Amino acid sequence: MRAQMQDWPLVSTTIIDHAARFHGDRRILTRSAEGPVVTSNWAQIRDKARRVAAGLRKLGLQPGDRVGVMAWNTGRHLEVWHGVPGAGGVTHSLNPRLFDDQLIYIINHAEDRWLMMDHDLVPLIERLAPHLTTVQGYIVMTDRAHMPETSLPGALCYEDWVAEQSADEGWTPVDEGDACGICYTSGTTGNPKGVVYGHRSNVLHAMAVLQPDVLGLSANDVVMPVVPLFHANGWSTGYSTPMAGASMVMPGRDMTAPALYEMLEQGVTITLAVPTVWLALLQHLEETGQRLSTLKRVVIGGSACPRAVMEKFEKVYGVEVIHAWGMTETSPLGSFATPTPEILGLSDEEQMEARLRTGRPFYTVDLNVKTDDGADAPRDGETAGSLFIRGPGVVQRYLKADVEAADPDGWFDTGDVANMDAYGSIKITDRSKDVIKSGGEWISSIDLENFAVAHPSVSEAAAVGVPHPKWDERPVLLVVCSPGKSATKEEVLAQIAEHVAKWQVPDDVLFVEEIPHTATGKISKVSIRKMLEEQGYQLPSS
Ligand code: AMP
Repeated sequence: MRAQMQDWPLVSTTIIDHAARFHGDRRILTRSAEGPVVTSNWAQIRDKARRVAAGLRKLGLQPGDRVGVMAWNTGRHLEVWHGVPGAGGVTHSLNPRLFDDQLIYIINHAEDRWLMMDHDLVPLIERLAPHLTTVQGYIVMTDRAHMPETSLPGALCYEDWVAEQSADEGWTPVDEGDACGICYTSGTTGNPKGVVYGHRSNVLHAMAVLQPDVLGLSANDVVMPVVPLFHANGWSTGYSTPMAGASMVMPGRDMTAPALYEMLEQGVTITLAVPTVWLALLQHLEETGQRLSTLKRVVIGGSACPRAVMEKFEKVYGVEVIHAWGMTETSPLGSFATPTPEILGLSDEEQMEARLRTGRPFYTVDLNVKTDDGADAPRDGETAGSLFIRGPGVVQRYLKADVEAADPDGWFDTGDVANMDAYGSIKITDRSKDVIKSGGEWISSIDLENFAVAHPSVSEAAAVGVPHPKWDERPVLLVVCSPGKSATKEEVLAQIAEHVAKWQVPDDVLFVEEIPHTATGKISKVSIRKMLEEQGYQLPSS
């Protein structure tokens, strides 16, 4: 017997329609790309999104056409985020921090037909333009007063263009299995790979992350995504926030701690970003003595959350930290470390340990850790293996790839090394490429880094394996000290030695001004290994 319920397609336009109809007045506050803080709401965002859809159709956009968007987190970006799929198009989010060569590659590979960009990013696009093979038009996301002189042929001024369109033409009908957005992986080795999200996968993922044990957003929340919309599907905030009918604060381009603090104080209740952002904010709060008056929760992911960050937020500022794991390929959220009754029954110290793990999968995500022989790793919180994931929000095949990215059972190898504990909570111990192999055993670079940053003078640390004639590899730690502070090699090693076996303690500590990062703010181990090799670095013992 077939169900006799309605066939209501899970398409992204239903999200913005819902937000506009039932939460239309909810405030969207933006530090605009032009500078001033401006206000909008879900009804206005939808109205503009409808005009974007109508305008793109008039320009000749056909269903499935890609529109590259390079923009900071602003209300205008939300209009485009919903407007492009509303015309049947596919939003291709572009990270301005990628190298020019990578941007040229991904724009050509995705075959973007139009490019939309914030006005301050016009010079960057002008640099790329001569190398772009499929782009036929440019739209500068600004008003007439800020429209720059540009060599981009026929560049349109967004606000003028949008004002000429009708909001009444309706959305282009799409199938829920159609593509909705594309994000490329950052491609630390080889070319970046395109992950093609669908309408259905985005709607399901947003619904899933609204569960109380995940983001748990409500209409009473004010959400500030510091994570850019162009990183890993914007951690779903562009969909989950309007779905919940929550308000939004969009911090724009200025990622400095004072600027973020100013925006957080606009009533923000929950915010999301990678750990480095929070290290800087906490340092700023310490220096200025400022308090966080409305913030209740901080979601930290993208890299391991250092213990000091969780402790400071919770003990000094009364803000709950939720550690999460995910990746571009998984829409992106995969696990959340919200506590279960078993964890809440533990001692304070044990609870902290449990919440510093990367957490449990939520419904729509299935996770498994497999050892090298292909067996399921025991759920003992120690045995490390390869982390696999499957679900409706997980990549099946990269854009234009010849082979599937997942095995016949749907399992996608994340490339992360993890262990799972008795509660089904995973802990990421490394990227498989970065794990340090010493004497046949694995040393977690993430553990070494976290123990090092627990030293009060250390602001950032990176551990890499350096070839060793006897042990295969030995760990070496790069350390950046906080401004005006210093530490000795012995102090840092003693700090680590308190927590790990003797053979896991790094052989050397190198104090550096800066640790290289990827375009998405992660420590670039590839660059570090290359740098050490180029410098002819020798381990002290070899
Ligand atoms: P991206 O696709 O750029 O978001 O990168 C995804 C990768 O970031 C994952 O495969 C992990 O290696 C890493 N990652 C994400 N979240 C965490 C976390 N909470 N702890 C450790 N590594 C993480």
